[in-house]
Amino acid sequence: MARPVAVYYHPDCLLHDTGPQHPETVARLTVAKAALDASRFASLIHWQLPEPAEVRWIERIHTAEYRQFIEESCLRGKHFVDMGETAVCQESYRAALLSAGAAIQAVDSVMQEGYQRAFCLTRPPGHHASEEQAMGFCLFNNVAIAANYALEVYGLERVCIVDWDVHHGNGTQDIFYGSPTVLFCSLHQLPLYPHTGESHETGTGAGKGMTVNCPLPFGAGIDLYHESWEHDLAPEIRAFQPQLILISAGFDAHREDPLADIELDARDYYHMTRWVLEIAEESAHGRVVSMLEGGYNLEALAESVKEHLRAMAEAD
Ligand SMILES: [Zn+2]
Repeated sequence: MARPVAVYYHPDCLLHDTGPQHPETVARLTVAKAALDASRFASLIHWQLPEPAEVRWIERIHTAEYRQFIEESCLRGKHFVDMGETAVCQESYRAALLSAGAAIQAVDSVMQEGYQRAFCLTRPPGHHASEEQAMGFCLFNNVAIAANYALEVYGLERVCIVDWDVHHGNGTQDIFYGSPTVLFCSLHQLPLYPHTGESHETGTGAGKGMTVNCPLPFGAGIDLYHESWEHDLAPEIRAFQPQLILISAGFDAHREDPLADIELDARDYYHMTRWVLEIAEESAHGRVVSMLEGGYNLEALAESVKEHLRAMAEAD
């Protein structure tokens, strides 16, 4: 028996204009949506229109000053909100609130609306954004906002974030580095931007051991990913017994991606998704919320998103 997946998408996320030549482009969403619409499992994709996140959920993760800085920078049409990589336009603040809102409402979908699996096909992405710094095309840290929301609103005690974007999720790591309630697991290329995510970075204080980094070398393929998953990540996640698993789903470890040097194929994202779903079935009632992070070759991104959703929509 196949399962429907709640997929959050809003056309206003297309209004976040990063300018010509920028890799984090509007077309990323349109090609991925077209691939899902044309897929054999299109009837299992239940499209949902997100509402903008309430400011209070943004400010649980980011400082009020930072949120205001982003809002004002966008409204003034400032081009960059960091040293020159994270671009915004007037509509970017609304797109960022929709991206965070989708993450929150996707949690509602799996916690109370009868879905087990949800995906946010939104932009801007989030995993590089820290408490008070935009970075790496990210404004608000969507996955962190969703994790905190799940802990606060649903009273969960253990949420796991699996971040397989090819870049280390430094923002998410920083936000939860001292937290005992969020297990942050990352598979990423190193050395590569943002040059963090060494395996000795494991958390601090009450969060000691709650950060698990698996840096992978230039040219790594699915075999190394599988080995890291089986030996380093899966045992930690199983021991933690997460009640909900969130995925920071970047697809820039694809071999065709222009921003990294990892050798995954679209089909590998099908398998990686199944690895996560398998653990979610054991302790989290199958609840998985995934959200788009990177992925910059349009054709590779569309195919990879399709494989990710194919795995989500499939029965066990
Ligand atoms: Zn990335």
